[in-house]
Amino acid sequence: MDIKGLIKGLHHVTATVAGAQEDYDFYVKTLGLRLVKETVNFDNESVYHFYYGNEIGSPSTIMTTFPYAGQGVRKGAIGSGQVSQTSFSIPMGTLTFWKERLKAQGVSYSTEQRFDQEILVFEDPSGLKLDIMEAVDERTPVWSTADISKENAIRGIHNVTLLISDIKTTIGFLELFGYEIKKQEGDLTLLEAGDGGAGNTLIVKDGKTAHQGVNGIGTVHHVAHRVASLADSLRIKDFLVNNLGIMATDVKDRKYFESIYFRIPGGVLFEIATEGPGFLVDETREAMGNGLKLPDWQEPNRARIEAQLQPYIK
Ligand code: ZN
Repeated sequence: MDIKGLIKGLHHVTATVAGAQEDYDFYVKTLGLRLVKETVNFDNESVYHFYYGNEIGSPSTIMTTFPYAGQGVRKGAIGSGQVSQTSFSIPMGTLTFWKERLKAQGVSYSTEQRFDQEILVFEDPSGLKLDIMEAVDERTPVWSTADISKENAIRGIHNVTLLISDIKTTIGFLELFGYEIKKQEGDLTLLEAGDGGAGNTLIVKDGKTAHQGVNGIGTVHHVAHRVASLADSLRIKDFLVNNLGIMATDVKDRKYFESIYFRIPGGVLFEIATEGPGFLVDETREAMGNGLKLPDWQEPNRARIEAQLQPYIK
């Protein structure tokens, strides 16, 4: 049995964050992403689940957050066994626009070279490490705002960095899925799946001297990879369990996609998510993100759920 090629690239990144208001303001107002879905954490309905992406939340463009302020969740620490950095892509020639925008918005950033390219590294309000980089990126439909035109707008997630204590084992594991090594530089190894490039890239960073990551506020909870169908997810699960002895969860219905979860050698929590049905399943394109959407089985509890969510203003 072979699972090479079933994973087409990234689907979304999910982070544990603090306040709903600061999170919304940062991803929507500062970075200019669209809130494509306002729902709750399906495993803990006292917390929002925000999905930010391009105009329709195309798979691979999506950043998602659980704002856990006031819920007694500890502050995390980014370290090995985690996604240590999430990268967004911007059109070629727009880095200057983004330097000026971040500065004007009061976001302090540093410039770094990564694979012979200048990137801007900064943190979100919860301390999550992010960067933006120029890339050829044809993903559409592009979302724009009053002060970020389509020509300058973020296209979606470009890649994530996995900080790993034993990179050889993890890279060998990723290669089973069809992720191929494309570049190496210092302690970084860049791998691509499917068509490669933006939305289909992982960077494995050597973290043998790093401390172990602590899950909590300001850290990525998991990274999701996309497959065409649930049948592909089940083939992957079968391979993990029977060939590698790695346990994976049952299929979870996330309404906008269906998912399984497992921890990779190296410790990072992976999700395999179907590309469909997508975020238009319960809202029109125009109204996406305007109101709280709940899974059907939680609708009878709407009043109670709404009352316990952290208030915020759009
Ligand atoms: Zn997820």
